[in-house]
Amino acid sequence: TVLANQIAAGEVIERPASVIKELVENAIDAQASKIDILVEEAGTKSITIIDNGDGIAPEQVTRAFLRHATSKIVDRNDLFRVHSLGFRGEALPSIASVADVVLETAVASAKQGKKVHYRGGELIEEIGTSARQGTSVKVTDLFFNTPARLKYLKSQHTELAQIVDIINRLSLSHPDIAFRLTHNDHAILTSVGNGNVQQVLATIYGVQQARKMVALEAENADFKLKGYISLPELTRASRNYISILINGRYIKNYQLTKALVKGYGSKLMVGRFPLAVLEIDMDPLLVDVNVHPQKHEVRLSKEEQLMSLIEEAVAQRLGSENL
Ligand code: ADP
Ligand code: MG
Repeated sequence: TVLANQIAAGEVIERPASVIKELVENAIDAQASKIDILVEEAGTKSITIIDNGDGIAPEQVTRAFLRHATSKIVDRNDLFRVHSLGFRGEALPSIASVADVVLETAVASAKQGKKVHYRGGELIEEIGTSARQGTSVKVTDLFFNTPARLKYLKSQHTELAQIVDIINRLSLSHPDIAFRLTHNDHAILTSVGNGNVQQVLATIYGVQQARKMVALEAENADFKLKGYISLPELTRASRNYISILINGRYIKNYQLTKALVKGYGSKLMVGRFPLAVLEIDMDPLLVDVNVHPQKHEVRLSKEEQLMSLIEEAVAQRLGSENL
């Protein structure tokens, strides 16, 4: 029902940045190599995501807007074996229940694509459309029917910062995808998608800053680490510049961030934090991604072993850098 979708939206869709995260993750799941994100007025006016991914077959399109209809979870154990970013089948129905959504999509072999228009959870129009492979989704009037949400939004500046943060992280975690973020017709981020993480870092932080980052690699029986961390002279006043990814999904885990910072020992000034992007590969059975609907917060088995591995890897890398 529309109400159930609105309730789900309350958990998943907090602000324009959450809409963007869900839609871009869908594009990533659809194997897109190019994702355009166009935003007006920090997403409060419009959000458009255009990808060149697999598209959705015409007969599947309205199904994609049914709650849980597309959920990739088959049994409880699947929660631990999640490889694609989306797995709840909640994002599209949730977004469509609190906004105006036009989705246009076509698969490779199709003669025709499909266009659907939802508003406040109701299907308003469903028509055939051109067969350009991929999907575009335009979201306008976000939270038009949930005034409390709308009121809760922060300034455009803050909402845009959240959007930029999400796209920075997603582009760092998917250096093989060409991302383009445009706000009110101004280009904010353009990554080339050639697989080079350092180039994405340079795009986000500037070439000079990216040079002050060093590669990090370590592994043990359970975990494999790979990433870039900044030298102690390049720091920020916030932990927000530390991105941690587990099996390709960026996550929030205070303990792991703490371990990374601890690896710097006394090299960091008080209240300063490094820039870092850390990719961790591990058996999906050791992760429970289902802790929070937004899937940022994860719980890990063997967390302490992972913390030591991170701390030691950072300490060693910085030690060798000083020689
Ligand atoms: P989930 O991603 O959890 O499956 P969503 O509500 O985000 O749920 O998406 C529903 C379904 O719609 C997806 O499983 C996918 O099959 C399809 N879909 C959504 N966005 C895209 C896209 N950009 N390209 C191809 N398929 C998509
Ligand atoms: Mg999804």
